[in-house]
Amino acid sequence: MKKQVHSIEVRNAALARLTERGVTVEDIAEIVYLMQSPYHPDLTMEPCIESVKAVLEKREMQHAILVGVELDILAEKGLLSEPLQSIIASDEGLFGCDETLALGSVFGYGSIAVTTFGHLDKHKVGVIKRLDTKSAEGRVHTFLDDLVASVAANASSRMAHRMRDEQEAAAAREEALAQHNAELRLEAKGEEGNEQAG
Ligand code: MG
Repeated sequence: MKKQVHSIEVRNAALARLTERGVTVEDIAEIVYLMQSPYHPDLTMEPCIESVKAVLEKREMQHAILVGVELDILAEKGLLSEPLQSIIASDEGLFGCDETLALGSVFGYGSIAVTTFGHLDKHKVGVIKRLDTKSAEGRVHTFLDDLVASVAANASSRMAHRMRDEQEAAAAREEALAQHNAELRLEAKGEEGNEQAG
């Protein structure tokens, strides 16, 4: 039987690649904050960071990061064969495999993830913009910018759904409490009536 690679090894390698390429969890969380704060005025960075970390725990996301960043690194070192070497090194606009790889990990998180990914692909925001500029300095981030957009889009969608769940749970708790208080008041009134009658 072939040796199976342990999940922890994959996870640690994917997280290490991001760090080595200059992308932190906070960088990605900042994009999540920018995408979601218009809908949640009280939003803080904490749930954004938590959501990015959760998305990075997904094996599919880790595999995409490993594949994409590896190709970026090989292109940076000039180790790919032509014409792929030139296509990736120059971030050829019609290449599209970078977007396709990143987009593949977006579908599992629903429509908010898909639309947010499209938005980030068009309007490079935060660290994505920085990666884009670095490409001009001899660094290759052809795949990484899209992968970061994918993690941010997934984390945005995940957080939006969770926040709605929490809102609804809080509303249900409030309603139950109001009902309980109303029952107590009714009981107290009944006892008062009994005392007067007695
Ligand atoms: Mg790209």
